[in-house]
Amino acid sequence: MKVGELTWQEYKEHVQKSVIFLPVGSTEQHGPHLPLNVDQICPTRIAELAAEELGAMVLPTIPYGYKSQPESGGGQYFPGTTSLNGSTLMNVVLDVLRETYRHGGRKFVLLNGHYENTYFLKEAADLFVRDAKDARVMYMTWVDVLEQKVVDEIFADCGFPGWDLEHAAVTETSLMLYFEPGLVRREKMVDDQFQEKPTYAMFPPDLDKIPKTGVLYKATYASREKGEMLVKHIVPGIVRVVRQEFGS
Ligand code: ZN
Ligand code: MN
Repeated sequence: MKVGELTWQEYKEHVQKSVIFLPVGSTEQHGPHLPLNVDQICPTRIAELAAEELGAMVLPTIPYGYKSQPESGGGQYFPGTTSLNGSTLMNVVLDVLRETYRHGGRKFVLLNGHYENTYFLKEAADLFVRDAKDARVMYMTWVDVLEQKVVDEIFADCGFPGWDLEHAAVTETSLMLYFEPGLVRREKMVDDQFQEKPTYAMFPPDLDKIPKTGVLYKATYASREKGEMLVKHIVPGIVRVVRQEFGS
């Protein structure tokens, strides 16, 4: 159930008992071959597929995230990367949780699609349950439920760089080829990487060191088949842990 498509009466009927997903993304450059909304599309589509299995609800996705970091998203210096201050993001998520709680929602899953959001979402969940004592919030990214053997298989032909560098590269491009192939500019797919992976962060950063394409690893190793394999593991993985925690 997509909450945005329900009437208030349908919403009222389900909100108290359902598990409620809140996908959180970003508006961020994803190289020359992917649109700015990749971090919205991936968690939204995954949440919708998991929700179908669970009879759960999916709230409208939050389309903005915390500031892109040079070493995990290319940073704030690409046109189109449009981010929130950490406290703004935290408060947006907190407000949505509190409003939904006011309507009777008690079982929440924050599904994060953008690496840099992590601790602001955890902070919102922590502050929320301090007041909402009968509510529970699960936090996860779609990456978290992947077993090592799946990761090994996806990266068998190109090597795994670490999730921070997997930006606009193998997994996100593969998921987009599966979910929204019409939005992938295949002829513009490239492999890129840091000449030297930074071991510290500088503010302001040295722009010369950031890969010029905005791709932090090997996008050309992506495929629709890999995207399908990811979805086939991620969705049941999420369904399993949600059932484990919320018993629905
Ligand atoms: Zn991304
Ligand atoms: Mn991102």
